[in-house]
Amino acid sequence: MVEKLRDPDCIFCKILEGVIPAAVIFEDDDVMAFMDAFPASQGHALIIPRGHYANIHETPESVVVTAARAAKRLAAAQKQALAPDGITVSQFNGAAAGQTVYHYHVHLIPRWEGQGGLRPSHGRDQGDPALLRELAERIRGAL
Ligand code: AMP
Ligand code: ZN
Repeated sequence: MVEKLRDPDCIFCKILEGVIPAAVIFEDDDVMAFMDAFPASQGHALIIPRGHYANIHETPESVVVTAARAAKRLAAAQKQALAPDGITVSQFNGAAAGQTVYHYHVHLIPRWEGQGGLRPSHGRDQGDPALLRELAERIRGAL
């Protein structure tokens, strides 16, 4: 297997290494999907490549395509498991665009009609770890 790039200071690389915990939905040789720890809505999930690339410019095209494929699969599972009225798929590059973690990632944020105080992509409060694990399991069950 090809050795993947790592940044020892990157929080998502630490999740990939199992150094810090995450509510993992699925993983394979190329990507990992897990629940966002500060969810903007119930079911907010992230997809990351296994290699460390800071942003869309540094990420090889093939890796962007692989992440997009995983996003499509994860969106279908969120739709089936959580029955949202919509799903926001977003990806930020650079602080000016709202990026806070510099390891390429795609957000999938389920949305419901009439949801008050909708936050575009970043939650204010940390999600309850037990609830995040339960949501990850429900979504995984619909993959
Ligand atoms: P971005 O602004 O696109 O860089 O988003 C980074 C996302 O990572 C935010 O939505 C954070 O809530 C999320 N996040 C930060 N640390 C963790 C973590 N340890 N586990 C899961 N999600 C995280
Ligand atoms: Zn990283």
